[in-house]
Amino acid sequence: MKRDKEHFRGCLVGGAVGDALGWPVEFMKLGEIVRRYGEGGIRDLQPAPSGKAEITDDTQMTVFTAEGLLRAETRGRNKGICHIPSVVFFAYQRWLLTQGYPRNKDYEWVYDGWLLGVKELHALRAPGRSCISALLSGRQGSMEAPINNSKGCGGVMRVAPVGLFCRKEDSFRIGAEIAALTHGHPSGYLSAGALAYLVALLIEGQELESAVEETMSELAGYENHEECSAVLARAAELAREGSLADTEAIARLGEGWTGEEALAIAVYCALKYRDDFRKALIAAVNHDGDSDSTGAIAGNILGACLGLSGIPGGWVEQLELKEVLIELADDLLTRYRDDDAWLARYPGY
Ligand SMILES: [Mg+2]
Repeated sequence: MKRDKEHFRGCLVGGAVGDALGWPVEFMKLGEIVRRYGEGGIRDLQPAPSGKAEITDDTQMTVFTAEGLLRAETRGRNKGICHIPSVVFFAYQRWLLTQGYPRNKDYEWVYDGWLLGVKELHALRAPGRSCISALLSGRQGSMEAPINNSKGCGGVMRVAPVGLFCRKEDSFRIGAEIAALTHGHPSGYLSAGALAYLVALLIEGQELESAVEETMSELAGYENHEECSAVLARAAELAREGSLADTEAIARLGEGWTGEEALAIAVYCALKYRDDFRKALIAAVNHDGDSDSTGAIAGNILGACLGLSGIPGGWVEQLELKEVLIELADDLLTRYRDDDAWLARYPGY
């Protein structure tokens, strides 16, 4: 059965919940996390003084990916042709503006749309250096002309909307191309292609285990996939065996600062606790590495599987930007409307 509104919402909100759960411990080793939060590590959202659990750059960039895809759709409908990554590149230029960088004079016209007016998106929450320096260069990286040699997880952590929006056949390539705008190492962009494809399969209604398998065979068709393939296979194997403690299993996959490790840790946690969003996300953030990104990716995957109602209601309630995420999820499902309000919201550039 094809998954729809409930699962679009689950994918975006789930990612943001994972991001918010991992953020307080992003830069802590496991030992520090346990000292601070007790034996089982961090197990619940930690609201900021605002009362909301804060999201970070992972979610901020994810919403700009969604906006870019919708604006690309407008462009395609009105011009008949559209290079999606180029339109998403401009969405990321708007994100760069939210992070305090000046407008690029070469494309003054791109600084509009409704997301720029959302004040939470202007908060600085440890944005990734590769993303910032690549976007500041004004040059669009691609798989054929890599912009750098970065395999940081800043590519994969932001592409889940591609799997909601694109047809399965296009999702891997477009996810990878969008990551390659800022991340030039194959493991930096192929991990993103893989996440987009996995989400697309889940939305088609596939079960998680077979969707992971099919994603691995799609990945194997790309050049220089070996590193990413090897760690994903290890993640699937560790989840299947299930004999190690999660912290031990995750340590064997890495720390998640790189794209392929972040995806593998998220896939391990999602497979191991495929029916229990809370357990999966707690596993996904309690380790030495990049907890908010591994949490975000695990949340995207399981949220797409389980839907919004599969996410603990208390977590959804506390989440910063919840309304914006739900609005964007619904807009991704709608794709396009030929009316002035929509065109003002998602102009075609
Ligand atoms: Mg982050």
